[in-house]
Amino acid sequence: MDPRDVAVLAIGDELLAGKHADLNMPLIANRLAEHGRRLVESRVLLDEIDLIAAAVREVAQRCPLIVVTGGLGPTPDDLTRHALAAAANVEVVHDDEAWRQVRAWYERSNRPMPESNRRQALMPAGATVLANPAGTAPGFRMRVGDATVISLPGPPREVSATWDVSVVPWLRAHPVDGQRASAFLFFEGLSESVFATEAAEWLDRAQNPQAGVTVSEGVLALRLVAEHEDADRAQALLDARLDDFRRRFADHLFSETFLDPAEALGVHLIANGISVTLAESCTGGLVVAALTSVPGISAVLRESFVTYHADAKVELLGVDPATILEHTVYSEEVVRAMAVGAAARTGARLAIAVSGVAGPTSDSPEHPVGQVWFGFCLDGEVTAHERRWPSGAHRDRIRRWATQHALASALRLVRG
Ligand code: ATP
Ligand code: MG
Repeated sequence: MDPRDVAVLAIGDELLAGKHADLNMPLIANRLAEHGRRLVESRVLLDEIDLIAAAVREVAQRCPLIVVTGGLGPTPDDLTRHALAAAANVEVVHDDEAWRQVRAWYERSNRPMPESNRRQALMPAGATVLANPAGTAPGFRMRVGDATVISLPGPPREVSATWDVSVVPWLRAHPVDGQRASAFLFFEGLSESVFATEAAEWLDRAQNPQAGVTVSEGVLALRLVAEHEDADRAQALLDARLDDFRRRFADHLFSETFLDPAEALGVHLIANGISVTLAESCTGGLVVAALTSVPGISAVLRESFVTYHADAKVELLGVDPATILEHTVYSEEVVRAMAVGAAARTGARLAIAVSGVAGPTSDSPEHPVGQVWFGFCLDGEVTAHERRWPSGAHRDRIRRWATQHALASALRLVRG
């Protein structure tokens, strides 16, 4: 039995009726990690005494901690307390402290208490009440065999509130062996398969730090967790591996704090007072939309251009029509001119320009679907580069990838 192992059992007929998903498991999984514990099993069960009791007894043989959610309500179909009592071979008894908490909740919320609520003061004999600041039903903690069982109400809001107030102190008082140090790195423009190949030796399951990878919206998030009996050694293991990743994927790393490139760039621009503008073609305003989701961005962003048609690039940004004729709009020359024009017309220190072929078809064989040019003008210094995403990719994905890449590249540029 690994002392870190935890199982979660979600109780409720409604969870198995195909209408509601179990939202408590992800919530608990996220919070367990902070305490060096790991979720190894998650089950969803009907509100049935025998089923629940058997599952708890069985899981208690291999998991030292079991978190149960749901089935603590006042109605007769809420049977979790009886099932857990059965699993531990104890009676269900009226608990004075639980009863006090149920009544106090009604007094606080100024509502008359239905008689059925007496049921919520019932607990397996010997259980410890867990205060629930967000609802009527208190949770409780008890032993079943060698395992500790924590029983929480069903609604995720109540799970969350009871967890913070009543479970965290217990977890802190019962640390599992070893020390952990963890950190995140966020990369852009890196596919999971390329990453898995180029970092294979560090992603191996036997490695310490352990690496976890998730990919979403064009961002690859890497979480590293180092473990050692000695906290300083855990930190040193983590730091060394962070450097390995930073060096090998320097061209893709954009943040160690923010998952979202727009937030990472926005916060940096605001903190350093760098004014910004955009000249977007194929992204149609997605880049500026992402930036405007950052609170306080108006300190550095005044206006932005969506110049979709070639004429707009000429009229609004001052791009020379001859440049477009000679090189097409999907070219280094044009994105450079777009960035320079946007900076000149607004006086912004940073201008970001995007022009490419989002598909599904391309009107020229030299410019395949997925080819996107990025131009930057920072304090008068102009740079540009091209990216090619798979031609078969959906138009929306290409536009989103281009958006994330524009933001992440701009961030690397302003950081220097
Ligand atoms: P209450 O005092 O609110 O009745 P309870 O412990 O009896 O609490 P349940 O009756 O099992 O909880 O669930 C109440 C409601 O909470 C459910 O109808 C459902 O909407 C929500 N809920 C319960 N469990 C989960 C879960 N695992 N994930 C998401 N929602 C849940
Ligand atoms: Mg229920």
